[in-house]
Amino acid sequence: MEGYVLPSFLLGVVNAIGIFALLTMSYGTLLRRVPTPLVRSFAIGAVFGAGASLSIANAVELAPGLRVDPRAVMLVLAAPFGGTMAAIVSSVMTSIVRAIAGGAGMWPGIANIWATALVGVLFAWLVFRNGRAYSMRRLALLGLASNVPLLFILTVPNPDAVAVFMRTIGPMAAIDTLGVVIFGTFLAKEHYRVARASHLERQASTDPLTGLVNRRKMRSTITEMIATARVARTPVSVLLLDIDHFKVVNDRHGHSAGDAVLQGVADIVARSVRSVDLVARFGGEEILVALPETDAPEAVAAAERIRRTIGQTSFDIGGKACQVTVSIGVATAAGSSVSFDALFASADEAVYLAKENGRDRTEITGSSAIALAA
Ligand code: GH3
Ligand code: MG
Ligand code: MG
Repeated sequence: MEGYVLPSFLLGVVNAIGIFALLTMSYGTLLRRVPTPLVRSFAIGAVFGAGASLSIANAVELAPGLRVDPRAVMLVLAAPFGGTMAAIVSSVMTSIVRAIAGGAGMWPGIANIWATALVGVLFAWLVFRNGRAYSMRRLALLGLASNVPLLFILTVPNPDAVAVFMRTIGPMAAIDTLGVVIFGTFLAKEHYRVARASHLERQASTDPLTGLVNRRKMRSTITEMIATARVARTPVSVLLLDIDHFKVVNDRHGHSAGDAVLQGVADIVARSVRSVDLVARFGGEEILVALPETDAPEAVAAAERIRRTIGQTSFDIGGKACQVTVSIGVATAAGSSVSFDALFASADEAVYLAKENGRDRTEITGSSAIALAA
């Protein structure tokens, strides 16, 4: 029996490494693929819970009655890396597995599971809050703290509870602390890799002056929007907005004042639309808004609302007040096979018409205009 302890312990370590590797890969995938925070937290909890449950099934018997497994590592890391929901979901799953295993230690075992997850929640709130780094020192502290719930072993209704505790605490504490530091470091690496990639992607698709989506990203997003609308048989509208006599603003107040006005106009447009709408800086002083599930009359109403708000706003340019007006062209794609280029050409034509008809106005061209006039 004794002779098998070392090989089975090593096998347990290899198993645990395998589980950690799988979890790290799944964690990275979930961070990249699941944009909704609560759903992501839930999914991370399910993955960590599966890992903790597998560990219970893979427990290594170091001596009769002395079974060790790294479940605490996953439970305590769930909240710091996945949020409170992840801690709850992984605790529920692991508790169910522990309940099925049964035995005299069932209730203390379940209490241990929840207490371990709670340690993680406390660390997420107090130590890792506001995106503080997952440093080695903080992870080591978390590893040490994850051992506190082992005290529940003392509550097992068994005369040997104290003896089991004394034999368990050493190996368990070593496994948990090391496990949290090593697995936590892997998770942190994955976390930073995904964060850096999404930061770069955001940078590549954002206009630095206005913070709006840039032209490159705009095109692909609107093309997708049109494809979705075609399948769902819903209309899509675009508004092309051009600041009137913007050259005069630059000439009179300077280029940086022009920049400030442009930022102000971009802010108003961004605040005037729904979260599903796309606001992009199309070029110089032109902003394009794409409105899914919006027909021509609704688009014209939105354009008029934006136009009026901008016209009534006094922009602060270095202590001086400056007012501008905008001309807006509206185009709608309804059902048929309208491409981005056709939609944009139609909006551009409408802007041209608005300029010709005296500026500070909204125009619509083509079949939408006929439909609207009817
Ligand atoms: P209108 O559209 O009413 O016909 O007149 P406009 O004066 O706006 O005419 P136009 O569209 O030809 O000129 C646009 C001007 O916008 C020219 C350019 O100097 C200015 N502009 C474009 N991008 C920026 C920018 O990023 N910052 C500043 N300050 N000015 C810009
Ligand atoms: Mg222009
Ligand atoms: Mg202009």
